[in-house]
Amino acid sequence: MRRAFVGILLVVVVGLGVATWVQWDPLPLVEPHGVPGVVGHATPLRLTVRSPGPGLSMLRLVARRNGQTWALFEQFFARTSWRGSGVQVFDVEVTPDWAALAIPEGELHLELWVSTYGWHIRGHDRAPAWEGGVRLDTTPPHVELLTTQHNVRLGGVELAIWRAADAVESGVEVGGYYFPGVAGYFADPQLLLGLFAIPQDLDTMAQPRVVATDAAGNRSERNIPVRIQARRFAERVLTIDDKFLARKVPEIEAANQLPAQGSLLDRYLRINRELRRENEARIREMTRASDPKPLWLASFHRQSNSAPLSSFADRRTYVYRGEEVDRQVHLGFDLASIAASPVEAAQAGRVVFAGNLGIYGNTVVLDHGLGLFTLYGHLRSLDVAVGQRVERGEKLGLTGETGLAAGDHLHFSVMLWGVHVDPVEWWDGDWIRKHLLAKLEAFPRASAAANDNR
Ligand SMILES: [Zn+2]
Repeated sequence: MRRAFVGILLVVVVGLGVATWVQWDPLPLVEPHGVPGVVGHATPLRLTVRSPGPGLSMLRLVARRNGQTWALFEQFFARTSWRGSGVQVFDVEVTPDWAALAIPEGELHLELWVSTYGWHIRGHDRAPAWEGGVRLDTTPPHVELLTTQHNVRLGGVELAIWRAADAVESGVEVGGYYFPGVAGYFADPQLLLGLFAIPQDLDTMAQPRVVATDAAGNRSERNIPVRIQARRFAERVLTIDDKFLARKVPEIEAANQLPAQGSLLDRYLRINRELRRENEARIREMTRASDPKPLWLASFHRQSNSAPLSSFADRRTYVYRGEEVDRQVHLGFDLASIAASPVEAAQAGRVVFAGNLGIYGNTVVLDHGLGLFTLYGHLRSLDVAVGQRVERGEKLGLTGETGLAAGDHLHFSVMLWGVHVDPVEWWDGDWIRKHLLAKLEAFPRASAAANDNR
């Protein structure tokens, strides 16, 4: 009798053990790696479900509010063997169509329900495997443009001021370029100011617009009424000879760790095209952050006793042995005076780059705040270091002919968030007063203390 009982017990215990080993699975794990606090029209929800065991049988993501329930996602997993589906990991990724679901904006309670092929004494699926809260916001930020006059010359800069309630990011977009707006300058914290350019490669039909995105990813756009003044950029022919190539190409290759492959002309073209492009990409990197305080409220200093060798955005045709071999746009001013002249800072600023910059040779880049930068190229020697503050007119180094320069001169560029703009405007105190200061002074400024706290 006792023996039989032990035998039955053993069979039951072993049977339960085998069943547990075969069909037992621990509680499913849910990793919500893409569920932001605020969701908008196009916000995907991402959760990873892990259930080691015989596999998932059903997933259901629902949203609830005040007793109402909306199904956002549902997936069934068919049995693929006698054990179950074998699906142990599944990535839920869903961008709910809130409008079609007719869910009003506001707080929502989310639940992810998970069923598996496992056997559960208590049952995994009597409660959601994951719960969370989100706020649904499908209203794009309201953009109110506060400046009315925008007159800009092709290749030049203008200023817009706008209010963008609830926006987390706002700026001016034009023809594939983006110029970020800056908050905190005015007493009204919702006011943004943005310098924007009509870059030299666009035309008078370009339509700048303020764009704003809120925390939920909702986006609005507002056209900036603008009058763009056409202009012709100078066409210039640059003749390059073997003497110049033999002197410059190996020097630039050595300074930039470039391989010396192909003919001298091939090597020169690689510098004039690829290195030039790389240098511009590097400039955009180093001009990504700018001081929130403008240091450009007065005219810029122009290099003393210098004569221009080029104007802004000259269209250059390169001729070698009587044939056209390349075309590039020269994005700056070449200013020449006597060799080894002191290079003077055009405006007070902070040094963000001091070193070799490819075709520009030894280069200094200064940040003047709110996205405005100046660049000084082909220097013989550098007197400043990154992070240093400089005053208007302060010596940055000496002019030279490092990089792609045929003789001693200063290459000077003004850039807005890394986009080259015409320096002529910034040398003109009258233009700064009319186009920029008049607009800035129309709105109360944040207190000096508030500015210093940033
Ligand atoms: Zn130049």
